[in-house]
Amino acid sequence: MPLLNILRYPDPRLHKVARPVTIFDARLKQLVADMAETMYDAPGVGLAASQVDVHEQLIIVDISDNQTELRVLINPEITWASSEMQVYDEGCLSVPGVYDGVERPARVKVRALDVDGNTFETTAEGLLAVCIQHEMDHLKGKVFVEYLSPLKRNRIKAKMLKEERELNRDKKRNSDR
Ligand code: ZN
Repeated sequence: MPLLNILRYPDPRLHKVARPVTIFDARLKQLVADMAETMYDAPGVGLAASQVDVHEQLIIVDISDNQTELRVLINPEITWASSEMQVYDEGCLSVPGVYDGVERPARVKVRALDVDGNTFETTAEGLLAVCIQHEMDHLKGKVFVEYLSPLKRNRIKAKMLKEERELNRDKKRNSDR
C-alpha cells in the first residue's frame, strides 16, 4: 500500500471540518489500513483523516509500544469529560518537531462507530485521552498549536513555512538533476 501524504501546518486544508462517515464499505477499510500504515511509518500515536486530506470523521490511535493496539473511531463524540484537567506535551504529525503543553480533561467517555458501523463506547484516560481529544480536534479543523499563545503559534508557523521552503528547494534541486 502507498503511504498517504500528511498535510503540514499551516496548510489551510487542515482547517476543513470533516463530515460524518455514512458508508461502511471496502473503501473505508482500505482508508483505515492506509492511515494505519502511514501513522506507524511516521511514526506517530494518532492520525485523523483530515491530516491526509480526507475530510471524514475518522481517527485512529495506537499508544502501545509495539503497534499492536490500533483503535479506530468513526464519527466519535465525547459523551462525558472529567472536570479534572491534565497538561500533556503534545506533538502532531502535521507539525513535526514541535511539542508543547496543552490542557485538556484528564478522562473522557467517547461514543463512536467501528469500521463495520457498530456503535461502541469507551472510557479513556492519560495519554489515550489526550490522543483521542487531539485527533478529534483535527476533525473540527483544529490543530493543537491553536491552544498556544499567538506569539508561540506565529513562531511555529514561521518555522514550518521556512522548513517547507527548504523541502521544496531540495525537491526542485533533485528534479533538476
Ligand atoms: Zn495532530
